[in-house]
Amino acid sequence: MISAQLRDANLVVNLAALRHNLKTQIAKLPAGSRILPVVKANAYGNGLVPVVNSLKNEPEVAGFCVALLDEGLRLRDEGISQMILVLGITPVQYALVAAREGVSLTVGSLAWLQEYLQIARVAKVTTPLRVHLGLDTGMGRIGFTDEEELAQAVDLLAKDPHFVFEGIFTHFSTADSADTAYFEKQYANWQRLTSVVKHLPPFVHVANSATALWHKGEVVGNTVRMGISLYGLNPSGRDLTPTWDLEPVMSLTAKLTFVKRLKKGSSVSYGATYTAQADEWVGTVPVGYADGYARGLTGYYVLVDGQKCPILGRICMDQFMIRLPKQMPVGTEVVLMGKSGEAEITATDLADQLNTINYEVLTGMSERLHREYV
Ligand code: PLP
Repeated sequence: MISAQLRDANLVVNLAALRHNLKTQIAKLPAGSRILPVVKANAYGNGLVPVVNSLKNEPEVAGFCVALLDEGLRLRDEGISQMILVLGITPVQYALVAAREGVSLTVGSLAWLQEYLQIARVAKVTTPLRVHLGLDTGMGRIGFTDEEELAQAVDLLAKDPHFVFEGIFTHFSTADSADTAYFEKQYANWQRLTSVVKHLPPFVHVANSATALWHKGEVVGNTVRMGISLYGLNPSGRDLTPTWDLEPVMSLTAKLTFVKRLKKGSSVSYGATYTAQADEWVGTVPVGYADGYARGLTGYYVLVDGQKCPILGRICMDQFMIRLPKQMPVGTEVVLMGKSGEAEITATDLADQLNTINYEVLTGMSERLHREYV
């Protein structure tokens, strides 16, 4: 997709805020802890390569987590030499590529390891595959649930030179909830399962953002998989208060491309759903749902000079209209997400309006939006 450079709409990514969030997290962790920034889905929409480049030299950053092997290979192509862990299950037929490129894979079953061995022997692979065993302690998505199968997998990893046992992890599904009962159940499952692992691998990671923010006491392990909090957002939305300062990294700004006096009785946008009740000043914003500014934000507002300006009519694919408090020139800045004067629209505000979570707002920002790094 084209990243549009020649229009006034920018997804502004504040790399200083990104590093601030990393440093505040590091300051809260026991000495010697490591961080694996989670940079899947284009670093939560912020831009994979710039985000990784701005974090890679921090001594606590041991590597990066992606969702897909393709994302990991993109980082290797960029010359990133640290550990890269694919968090999803990679179809076994692609795993030789991971071994060759030194990309670490999540493995969730003994059968996968055995199948890989057959393929690797036929291919006469000499580079070992780096493996992180994923334990399903209650997320119900991927991973080992049975001690016996896990013990056999650990045994195989220890014996067979086709593998390096690099890590072990789990993922908590309710760490962002005030009710900790299910978290504790998952934690007990983690302890039950890991009791069969006599020699833990170098990377033991159980904490995502919410676990690190609200469950420090219970959490074992030496490494945090830091996702949404790195990008400055509260994983719980508004349910729990962050235990340290989070600075939003992404904002979305545009400039008015057209300003007109709309006559009383005239309508705007598809379906003519909005009709002016009086003469009013209307501006056109060059962003639409194809940019990730969802059509569900119809009826919401943006900020101009710190003031709320309501969106008039439906959001189009590439543009929408707003009511201006007065005549304003073409080129006036409009904040769709971020700060304007004293006012602010956060990704969590947009998520509430869209009945979703701030993660989806960030990752929904289209590649078409030019990323400006500040
Ligand atoms: N670990 C795993 C396995 C994940 O799937 C994710 C994100 O979905 C993360 C860590 C990062 O989570 P968060 O963004 O809530 O920190």
